[in-house]
This record gives sequence, structure tokens and C-alpha cells, in this order.
Amino acid sequence: MSYVAALLLAVAFGLLGRWLLRPYDALGRRKPAPLASVLLFASIGAGLLVPVWRHARLEHRLDDVASALVGVPVVVHCQTAGDELFDVGGELGLVRSGADGRPERATLLKRGPCRRLAGYVRSEQAHPSRDQVVAVHVLSHEARHMAGTTDEARAECEAMQRDARAAQLLGADPAEARALAAAYWRDVYPTMGDSYRTPDCAPGGALDERLGEGPWGS
Ligand SMILES: [Zn+2]
Repeated sequence: MSYVAALLLAVAFGLLGRWLLRPYDALGRRKPAPLASVLLFASIGAGLLVPVWRHARLEHRLDDVASALVGVPVVVHCQTAGDELFDVGGELGLVRSGADGRPERATLLKRGPCRRLAGYVRSEQAHPSRDQVVAVHVLSHEARHMAGTTDEARAECEAMQRDARAAQLLGADPAEARALAAAYWRDVYPTMGDSYRTPDCAPGGALDERLGEGPWGS
């Protein structure tokens, strides 16, 4: 998309440049400025850049949120529409392991959760849809992998205790953020597969970090 946009902008500037350099024809007559075609190519090119710019802006926002959650700079990539065509995996996000076996400090979020995160950021955060609740949690969950947790049930539990913080970093107020974390704990966590759940993840359980933020309070 950005290549096509760059090509169209280059054509627009090329036409304009050619006219500026040679404003007269072979007989010395002034040539009309190619305004219509320059404007056409430039506006289509600029129009194509809008989604590219939005995508980059969302990724930067998510970089900041995930870096705050992890405590070190990390990178969030959002899957593009083109990548989605060739995607056969069912997961909503993933963190690869480096050559040393440790999780990388970068994550790929699939197109669905990225779009829902964009919608959540744009919305008033007061009434998130279930999909938006899951998307905020996916970012929080991948952040735990980037922080070094590889066990899924542990990552899930650590993430739930930071979902409220993630929601606040995405713009929610403290009450809205706690409600989001509670909604995941109450409505979504029980539906997760066995490898994502453990009885240790409960108030007072072995994995309760007592962070004082959702999903179960202090
Ligand atoms: Zn995971």
C-alpha cells in the first residue's frame, strides 16, 4: 500500500517537475500546467497513506502501553490486511522465542485484536464489547511473555492482574479499567482451555501477586 502511494506521489511530483522545468513547448508556447492530473495522483497517493499512517500511529501507542506493562522498551506489531490473507494460525497474538530460548521483546498482534484495540482507544472505554475486553487482555498477556513468562497459565494469571493497568494506559479511568479486568476474569477466563487455567490463579492463591488492581481487587 505504501509503495503504491509513494509511486502515485512520485508520478504527481514528476508531472509537476517536468512542467516546471519545461513550461514552454517546442514552438515557445506556454504549456498549460498539468494541475488536474497532478492533483489526481497526489490525492489518491495521500489517501492511500492514511491507513498506513493510522496503522503506524496505533502501533506506536501500543508500543508505549506494552513497554509500560513490561517495564522495558518492547515493540508491538499489528498484522496488516495483506499478512492476514496468508495467516493460518488461530492465536490472537504471539511472542517468538529468540535463539537463546528467551521470549523476544516484540509481539505480533493479529488484525482482529488490533482493530478492536483501535476501537477501544477511540471509544469512551465505559462500555467495552467482549471482543474489546479480550483484545486489551491479549495485549496484556503478550506483555507477560515479553517480560519472560513462558508458561501460559502463569502468563494468563499475571496478565489478568494487569488488565486494569493496561486499560488505564489505553485511556480508561480507574473504575472503567477495574470493570474491564473483572469482566475478563468473570466472563472469559472460565472459557479458556485447560493449559491457560490453574486453580492457583485465584484471590489468595499461589499466583495472586496482590497488586491491588483487578480482577479480584486487593
Ligand atoms: Zn500466551
